[in-house]
Amino acid sequence: MSHPCLEKNCWRCCDPVKIDKKRWFADSDIPLNEKWEKIRIRKDEIRVSESHPDTVKLDIFECINYDKQTKMCKDYDNRPVICYNSWCIDHDSKQSIHDQHRLTIAENFFIINHNQKWKKF
Ligand code: SF4
Ligand code: SF4
Repeated sequence: MSHPCLEKNCWRCCDPVKIDKKRWFADSDIPLNEKWEKIRIRKDEIRVSESHPDTVKLDIFECINYDKQTKMCKDYDNRPVICYNSWCIDHDSKQSIHDQHRLTIAENFFIINHNQKWKKF
């Protein structure tokens, strides 16, 4: 299965990285690079879906492989398995890849941090 990221020039899943809180993603699960550095840094923030606030809550990470200047992954061909496993499309869906991608990037979130300050993203 292929991701539409390059075709769509979209890096929404990388900036920032968003992991469903239901996955209980521990810091020990963060992939390491060849220098044995964790490639993701957990941020003091969760994002809550505006349209599905009861079910979609995301932990937020910065990825050190994401280049904010080019707005691309610095090592896309060697990205970790966890990146292969995150995508915006379901190949079994009746919706087109284009429509699934469009709906994904249209989703809005509220941001909450430990100060309990909410803002819309
Ligand atoms: S929303 Fe889709 S196209 Fe964009 S970065 Fe995520 S998987 Fe790639
Ligand atoms: S390693 Fe690359 S594809 Fe994976 S989250 Fe980081 S920037 Fe995105």
